[in-house]
Amino acid sequence: MAAPEEPGSFTEAPQPAVEEEEETKTFKDLGVTDVLCEACDQLGWTKPTKIQVEAIPLALQGRDIIGLAETGSGKTGAFALPILNALLETPQRLFALVLTPTRELAFQISEQFEALGSSIGVQTATPGRLIDHLENTKGFNLRALKYLVMDEADRILNMDFETEVDKILKVIPRDRKTFLFSATMTKKVQKLQRAALKNPVKCAVSSKYQTVEKLQQYYIFIPSKFKDTYLVYILNELAGNSFMIFCSTCNNTQRTALLLRNLGFTAIPLHGQMSQSKRLGSLNKFKAKTRSILLATDVASRGLDIPHVDVVVNFDIPTHSKDYIHRVGRTARAGRSGKSITFVTQYDVELFQRIEHLIGKKLPVFPTQDDEVMMLTERVTEAQRFARMELREHGEKKKRAREDAGDNDDTEGAMGVRNKVAGGKMKKRKGR
Ligand code: AMP
Repeated sequence: MAAPEEPGSFTEAPQPAVEEEEETKTFKDLGVTDVLCEACDQLGWTKPTKIQVEAIPLALQGRDIIGLAETGSGKTGAFALPILNALLETPQRLFALVLTPTRELAFQISEQFEALGSSIGVQTATPGRLIDHLENTKGFNLRALKYLVMDEADRILNMDFETEVDKILKVIPRDRKTFLFSATMTKKVQKLQRAALKNPVKCAVSSKYQTVEKLQQYYIFIPSKFKDTYLVYILNELAGNSFMIFCSTCNNTQRTALLLRNLGFTAIPLHGQMSQSKRLGSLNKFKAKTRSILLATDVASRGLDIPHVDVVVNFDIPTHSKDYIHRVGRTARAGRSGKSITFVTQYDVELFQRIEHLIGKKLPVFPTQDDEVMMLTERVTEAQRFARMELREHGEKKKRAREDAGDNDDTEGAMGVRNKVAGGKMKKRKGR
């Protein structure tokens, strides 16, 4: 392969001459060792995906790779298999480092590494922010590292992790293999490519062949009394996204909005007990992005032009399975990606099974760190208490004045109580 003419350029991966030739490729044809071919087989990966066909042989030849591929394309296998293949040849500790924008993604990737490497006893860890470990964990270093993967590099850089990535690049060996995966090739990604990759080859999957699941659907099984705490955890964990949270009643929509506002989140309700003008007001604030969290009932959300949201949370499970599809359809629109997370309590199991039956698949669990969730309990309990007080005060005021139900029905007016909650806004952590 010819060397690139200038730094930052790359070689294109060779395309198969005929489509059928690619269709019949097996993992073994790509050069994957037998024990890993068996692992793929056990996972039900009957044949490699397009990005795997392109990237694996080049990675096995020792090339640095730029992979333009999205979640759902099989990109994790495209970098995990060559790494495991090489690890089998020269086993050692701290062999490969995978950087991801969020802990949740790190967790998914570690699961795939472990599934593929189960028969060879591969160990993975998702330690959170690596910089903290490099700076604070005595005796920890990455000087023996052989492989670096930067997954969803565009998101890593968009989340302002540039300095951290630079620091990591400085403490790992220059003599290593590097794989950079990104959905988009932004200027920042190109800059990173120049700094971190040597003579890379580009592998891109054309969307024509992709079976990309733009919508990632998850569920969380939790006792009903912890729903609020898990909601706050998720909002912190996925900070920076726009959310639509569905509740089953007007009352719960209002209560949850008050609770979140008491914790400093920019949440706004939208439900049938609000006047039309209030509802539109809420919607406009959400559309204008001055509020990032919209809480709604199914009824209120119908017939309104709600913009794209990044994450749909089914805080209360829908009683009609079809509403599930309607709700999650608020995200992953027009080719964009999105997530939905459905809360399933001890009372919701049957409804949830009906939903899975309707959509024809089993949903994965959304990964959470339960000890981190529990650390939020105290502040959430306090905010719940204030929210209840506000709801009660508001109800009495309404009764006295016999006002139009909608006119005061706005959490934004309830600042007095909210400010009493110590600390204001919940600390937002960067994705880990
Ligand atoms: P990823 O794009 O890496 O997030 O992978 C998306 C999903 O595709 C994961 O659930 C993988 O287990 C699955 N997958 C990866 N490679 C293959 C394959 N060759 N055949 C079938 N499924 C695969």
